[in-house]
Amino acid sequence: MTNKTVTTEWIRHLIRSGDTSPFYNTQAWAELREQKRKIEHYECERCRRKGRYSPANTIHHKKYLREAPELALDINNLECLCEKCHYDEHHKAENQKQLNEERW
Ligand SMILES: [Zn+2]
Ligand SMILES: [Zn+2]
Repeated sequence: MTNKTVTTEWIRHLIRSGDTSPFYNTQAWAELREQKRKIEHYECERCRRKGRYSPANTIHHKKYLREAPELALDINNLECLCEKCHYDEHHKAENQKQLNEERW
């Protein structure tokens, strides 16, 4: 864990370098994700909307980090997800067909 000050410029630099993991190792991110998980009672927000309970261990950026680095530490841009929902979110394109068929 590093105490590095997170700036949009730095994140842009990480994106360009192809490795954003240093961002996820900062104290600022660790604290924010913990705060968000606490607010959501460590539950997956998407499963909860479907009336299910799943413990969440992933914090997802609604606007992806590489698309909106300026929102990296904006708590309103975070979503508390279980592994499955997070996986689905990042594999949306492949699942799109199936999703469309399921929609009412
Ligand atoms: Zn879920
Ligand atoms: Zn994600």
